Amino acid sequence: MCEEIKITLTSSPKEKPVDETKLGFGKIFTDHMFMMDYSADKGWFDARIVPFAPIPVHPASTVFHYGTEIFEGLKAYRTVNGEIRMFRPMENIRRMNNSAERLCLPQLDEDFALKILDTIVELEKDWVPHSDGTSLYLRPFMYGNDPHLGVHAVHNATFVVICSPVGAYYAEGINPVKIAIESEDVRAVKGGTGYAKCGGNYAASLRAGEKAEKKGFTQVLWLDGVHRKYIEEVGSMNVMFKIDGEIVTPELTGSVLPGITRKSCVELLKSKGYKVSERLISIDELEEAAKSGKLEEAWGTGTAAVVSPIGWLSYKGQEFTVNNGVIGAVTQELYDTLTGIQWGKTEDTLGWCHKVC
Ligand SMILES: *Cc1c(COP(=O)(O)O)cnc(C)c1O
Repeated sequence: MCEEIKITLTSSPKEKPVDETKLGFGKIFTDHMFMMDYSADKGWFDARIVPFAPIPVHPASTVFHYGTEIFEGLKAYRTVNGEIRMFRPMENIRRMNNSAERLCLPQLDEDFALKILDTIVELEKDWVPHSDGTSLYLRPFMYGNDPHLGVHAVHNATFVVICSPVGAYYAEGINPVKIAIESEDVRAVKGGTGYAKCGGNYAASLRAGEKAEKKGFTQVLWLDGVHRKYIEEVGSMNVMFKIDGEIVTPELTGSVLPGITRKSCVELLKSKGYKVSERLISIDELEEAAKSGKLEEAWGTGTAAVVSPIGWLSYKGQEFTVNNGVIGAVTQELYDTLTGIQWGKTEDTLGWCHKVC
């Protein structure tokens, strides 16, 4: 395992964005990126921060042909006191190692991975935007990089971290979204790669998302791949419901991505005394709850949006309205508490924030 990170600074730093309302998501990138390479005999080597630039990759590289790619997503926040911090970064590092294990990619040393994140964020600290709700999105990713076409576990890999200043997710207020329950395509199956954060899961999910968008929906709600019966996720977020006073979220059966926002919401709600269950939720149960008025709230959870309230659900031609199409009290409370902790407005009693500088 390499210990040192060699830093080569850019000779042509870019202008930082002046109008932070126009940042959007993942459109602009900072001046530098982190890279390191792996080979089966050397382990990880050549840890370096270099000017942000295209990466030359061999045309036969494993990643192009067999989809050996995993990634993470987390944010660095500028707090009200001017500190730069990350939210639960070790959770992302551990999840990346779990994803790597599933795809036969190499493991990262946890402490060194945290040092990498700290080093790149501190170097790019002036790129962490200042306006309310903005942050520096970090995208670590790893890909198999063997330069030949034989199918086997990888012997060469590359790990990269790029950083992108992102705008406030809810610049126009938190508006509940319309969701289509997908009954044809499935995102993942138990035994597959559903629990790994890998590009291939996204490739498999794009068609349903496109179809739903064309019909005026924001995202799809995924059902399990075997029975087409149990609720799994919403778009690329985990999903939670408030049914008759109880908060329920699909249990992690192997096909559901173990979201860090999901985990934080569960821990936070439990600490506040809510009844929270991680269990199977069938589409029939959800339909029944919606019809009888017991479906009180529904929302997605993920790093980008924190929470995304669901106002309408459509299933096989029927439409259900949730909480009259407005954000519910628990959804709002989760949003306020989590963003309060992340931007340093609420005391971080659970010790989730990691100070960078
Ligand atoms: C990343 C991701 C999530 C959310 O995870 P967080 O750690 O909360 O950002 C949920 N579902 C899928 C499919 C994802 O890729």
